[in-house]
Amino acid sequence: MNYNKMTVDDLAAKGRRVLVRCDFNVPQDDSGNITDDKRIRESLPTIRALIEQGARVILCSHLGRPKGEFNMKYSLAPVAKRLSELLEKEVVLAGDVIGEDAKAKTAALKDGEVCLLENVRFHAEEEKNDSDFAKSLALMADFYVNDAFGTAHRAHASTAGVANFLPAVCGYLIKKEIDIMGRALSDPKRPFVAILGGSKVSDKIGVINHLLDLVDIIIIGGAMAYTFLKSWGGNIGASRCEDDRLEYAREMIIKAKEKKVNLLLPIDHVCARAFSPDAEAVTFTSVSTCTGIEDGWMGLDIGPLTRTLYDKHIKDAGTVVWNGPMGVFEFDRFAEGTRAVALSLAESGAVTIIGGGDSAAAVEQLGFADRMSHISTGGGASLEFLEGLELPGIACLNDK
Ligand code: AMP
Repeated sequence: MNYNKMTVDDLAAKGRRVLVRCDFNVPQDDSGNITDDKRIRESLPTIRALIEQGARVILCSHLGRPKGEFNMKYSLAPVAKRLSELLEKEVVLAGDVIGEDAKAKTAALKDGEVCLLENVRFHAEEEKNDSDFAKSLALMADFYVNDAFGTAHRAHASTAGVANFLPAVCGYLIKKEIDIMGRALSDPKRPFVAILGGSKVSDKIGVINHLLDLVDIIIIGGAMAYTFLKSWGGNIGASRCEDDRLEYAREMIIKAKEKKVNLLLPIDHVCARAFSPDAEAVTFTSVSTCTGIEDGWMGLDIGPLTRTLYDKHIKDAGTVVWNGPMGVFEFDRFAEGTRAVALSLAESGAVTIIGGGDSAAAVEQLGFADRMSHISTGGGASLEFLEGLELPGIACLNDK
């Protein structure tokens, strides 16, 4: 896939109406207050650039899962308010998405003014990538900008379909994601280390397979390590395991050997008898790949020897990509492995890239965010990117 896409800098946007797909899917409390405005802040550079160019800016986004119906619980009104505060400028909220109010308010925009359409997922046609719906969105604008990396792996009307009807470019957020992650995959500083954790091998099959062609070292942690360990004859006790993926895990271990990729599995494990935050924790040590976890105990985190082993490889790396926690980091007692890996990355001189989701949340919670080279804004999208898949929300944009 060609990642050399046109950007907002390539638009002659003055006086033109520009439809910008943002990711304003912010967390809210029960009263609808925004509890974290990070996603709104991240979209500011693109919006500000368009305002400065004198564009008439039309913003759209989804929020939550309104299931294709108008439901004011999922209204973008709180986003319009917060965005207006951040921009120090009025943001007009349309009462609908492609209806009379949206048409009237977008038509009335003057140069440098901003209108936010209501939640695009109030229409079921959005997620179906319905062509008529995409066309209705496009009819309100002269140009399309996609800046929602978090939904770039979805072919929806506002993330991809609309590009069939308008000149389409990327915003700064998407540009940053594809520049940094694209460079890491195509021309990494070596050694190139991938760290994969989380709950399921099945979610990351494509990623593991693709990365084995690119990296020098793969570090595995989290529950998925136990599927790998069992596939190689290890005793994993009551640890979480996907028995229907044992064959695949074995194939990946063999592929790693053939490709001369160093595939590292945990050598010790912090275990408990119950999946509970205050379960008694005992560390079992493995011999070679054969783990020594006793029956009835489940591995919930990587142990101290593993942390030291992984730390050395992370510190010596040229590039590190990390996706997925090393253990059940939601339970304090089993968060140490994830914390240790985050610290190793923070202290490493490598280019460090955090795929979104849990690893991004962990890095932020621990206060290491500003010590990483890049934290992706899209969990699913960054995984698909690492898998080498074409992201529809990026593929649809005009090449340079
Ligand atoms: P994922 O969504 O695949 O990145 O997985 C993240 C989830 O994996 C987190 O909620 C962790 O609690 C969970 N997880 C990580 N390690 C383990 C483990 N050893 N056993 C059970 N769950 C785990």
